Amino acid sequence: MDKVYKHPRLGDVLLRQRWTTSRISLSVKPSGEVRLSYPRLVSTAKALRFLETKVDWVLRMRDKVSQRAMAGVDYSLEQIEALRREAKRVLPAMVERLAAQYGFSYGRVTIRATRSKWGCCTSQNNLSLSLFLMTLPTHLQEFVVLHELCHTVHHNHSAEFHALLDRVTGGREKELNRQLKGIRKNLRFRKGVESDLGHIMELVADAQNWFAKQNIDQWQDGYPTDNIISSDILSNKNYIVELDGDTSATFMLSFDGEPTYSVIEGKGWLNNNPYAVVHRIAVTDRCRRKGIAKEILYYVEELCAERGVADIRIDTHRDNLAMQSLLKKMGYSHCGRITLISGAYREAYHKEIKR
Ligand SMILES: [Zn+2]
Repeated sequence: MDKVYKHPRLGDVLLRQRWTTSRISLSVKPSGEVRLSYPRLVSTAKALRFLETKVDWVLRMRDKVSQRAMAGVDYSLEQIEALRREAKRVLPAMVERLAAQYGFSYGRVTIRATRSKWGCCTSQNNLSLSLFLMTLPTHLQEFVVLHELCHTVHHNHSAEFHALLDRVTGGREKELNRQLKGIRKNLRFRKGVESDLGHIMELVADAQNWFAKQNIDQWQDGYPTDNIISSDILSNKNYIVELDGDTSATFMLSFDGEPTYSVIEGKGWLNNNPYAVVHRIAVTDRCRRKGIAKEILYYVEELCAERGVADIRIDTHRDNLAMQSLLKKMGYSHCGRITLISGAYREAYHKEIKR
């Protein structure tokens, strides 16, 4: 018979006494459930004494297990302590600033090594924040803090709560929520560095093969070369997308304008405002149809927001229907055709990001 034992530090522990078991053993399931199995001839008291010697181990294991589920990354105890110090330095000040800005009042702020959620707000309006917030970009840390601050007004996820959160995020609750979920899918963005060049060229080769298979005459002339990618990296314009820790996609983002965009045939660009231009998106074959190109375009919007740029321009091959349909879905307008230096045409798209 299985019994549940309430341990003061571990909570429910499932006790499993079995004839078929020859020794006492302890396991932690991915759900965090703790199981203590022991033979029929061993007393429950003895099994519980064994459990007592292993409490710290169980806590560590449980942390590891849920941490893997949440971040997909294993942190050492030292790394966790470093995140905790960083969190204590950054998060209480952030709460104070955002609360003042939007007129929220709250009690205490505590930092915990919580993996199951980013934060919570008690009925006394004390906030508890996960030190793993430090692994997120600043705008998402702020989003989580605002979420918890909104709970000081609405202690639930009612329509009123979401309306308030949407208001304090400038109408971006849905979008930021989506990004936060993306983070939980183990998607990471970072700048490319020189040692990434080999990996990036593999992504480029994957993309070239994929275009060939789709009969798209894009990148079939050896473009982009490792020289071009190298210079993207050196000018800080190359980005890497990691999925589950693997280099999965790359792209180039520039705020310095694009010479070939100065002439356009057709309707013309939406405006002449400063814009971001995205080039050289390449996704590995392993990661096709996982929505990575979409995540890249959302991420670009985020970088634009940080720089106060409200326009994005991009071009793609006439036959690259997947890209064109994605661009339309994401609110890009087809503006006409541009001519590359090689003389080839590309379909030109432009998006004004709403603020
Ligand atoms: Zn909530």
